[in-house]
Amino acid sequence: MGFLKGVLTGLTAVAAGSALLNKVLADPERKPLISEYAVRSVWMHLAGFDEIKPNPPLLENTTQADVVIIGGGFTGLAAAYHLSKSHPNKRIILLEAARCGYGGSGRNGGILQDFDNHLVMVLMQKKGLEAARTYYEIDRQGPELVRTLIREHQIDCDLEECGVLELALNDQQMETLQTFHRNWKSLGIDSRILDREEVSSELKTDRFAGGLHKDLAAILNPAKLAHGLKTVVESQGVEVYERTRVMSIKPGSTVEIETEFGSISTPSLVLATNAYTHQIGFFKERIFPLGAYAIATEPLDRNQLESIGWQGREAMWDMSPEFFYTRLTADNRILIGGESSPYFYGNGLSTGNYKPTLEKLEKSLLQTWPQLNGIQITHKWGGTLAMTLDYHPTIGVMGENRNIFYGLGYSGHGVSWSQLAGKIISQLYSGDDTELTRFYCVNRKPPYLPPEPLRKAGFELYTRFMM
Ligand SMILES: Cc1cc2nc3c(=O)[nH]c(=O)nc-3n(C[C@H](O)[C@H](O)[C@H](O)COP(=O)(O)OP(=O)(O)OC[C@H]3O[C@@H](n4cnc5c(N)ncnc54)[C@H](O)[C@@H]3O)c2cc1C
Repeated sequence: MGFLKGVLTGLTAVAAGSALLNKVLADPERKPLISEYAVRSVWMHLAGFDEIKPNPPLLENTTQADVVIIGGGFTGLAAAYHLSKSHPNKRIILLEAARCGYGGSGRNGGILQDFDNHLVMVLMQKKGLEAARTYYEIDRQGPELVRTLIREHQIDCDLEECGVLELALNDQQMETLQTFHRNWKSLGIDSRILDREEVSSELKTDRFAGGLHKDLAAILNPAKLAHGLKTVVESQGVEVYERTRVMSIKPGSTVEIETEFGSISTPSLVLATNAYTHQIGFFKERIFPLGAYAIATEPLDRNQLESIGWQGREAMWDMSPEFFYTRLTADNRILIGGESSPYFYGNGLSTGNYKPTLEKLEKSLLQTWPQLNGIQITHKWGGTLAMTLDYHPTIGVMGENRNIFYGLGYSGHGVSWSQLAGKIISQLYSGDDTELTRFYCVNRKPPYLPPEPLRKAGFELYTRFMM
């Protein structure tokens, strides 16, 4: 009896402790589920989302489809695109909780990197030139897929082939850029070092110690791209239900899916819910969500533009661990993102209005260009990234019946990786054996993540002492 009492007291204490931790450590602003209807992303504004009505929800109770895709971001839309192209006679249904492009896909920086510098660099150091080259050859196919889609379907998404300028804040970072420069050369990629004076004369700022310019990168409006992709997949026969949140999934040879208002069964499911995936019961131990934030100014007038130079309109980011990035929009606003990305206790999703980071972003703008003092910030927003501990994504197929396909964990490189994931998912579904399906990110398990409160503690320790 005494033992039982002890166990009960212990369990109550653990539950109370956990509830207290939740209260203290969770995002102080709010704990959203999936839908926050007032996302103030400048991209959604410029794409006219307020005027474009989302599709009706799925209301039927006994629907069946050959493939059901959950999530209408880039991954879900890319999977829908490639699956409907390869299997035009299959009934493919895409279910999206809010609207296509509502998640990270309509909120990101819109920077289409041709490859992930840091991963290529790490591979080169740890596994040598050939391993880095193999990764690079696959990685660069993502942006090419995006460009081809835009070109072939004439998607109006303000694509600008502007290149990228990586910026050093100090001499040590400048040395890293020099190493990048040598590495890119050995891979046959052109890049150009800029010293302090060159950066300062190009960008009219004293903030940076120098930079590395590469032609391989583009910028675009991601919300317009998501909307354009939705139109393309619908024209290929995919049925897109928006405002349709999936509540539960019962795996089996036939997967049973419950939505808020209806239900649907299918022999093949695609999970394309990236940072939201843990909410429907998958990848809780392998993927963690990080809050990511951005701000955009009002459009700059001619004098303001002249005062900051930036004639090349390159995407730019710095080399700090907090990672500051910036770019111009098609209507000449400055977008700034990064600076700090919090992890919210218990895999909490980001709020759209996380003040500590948003304030840092505003400061960062004026620290870079004090001459813009007084400029209006018209948009501030947040979103959630899906991270893995080693920054590599995972794409594959799982379940006893090998019929649950997935692609997620792009760790900040999803604008292009999501397109590759969509193609890989389609090839896996078709049973193809290709260089993509053999790529090491396919069917891999990302490193294990401990449960709370260790997860939060680990993240805090890492950001305080390792960054
Ligand atoms: C602020 C920010 C800046 C970024 N900057 C860049 C960048 O410059 N370059 C880059 O390459 N990457 C960037 N990223 C990352 C990139 O946006 C993502 O990796 C990419 O958009 C992921 O696409 P996705 O389709 O997998 O996920 P998402 O776009 O998040 O789509 C998932 C969709 O699933 C839906 N969903 C979730 N749960 C359910 C459910 N239960 N039922 C139905 N639907 C559901 C959501 O509503 C959402 O629309 C950034 C991300 C953020 C947040």
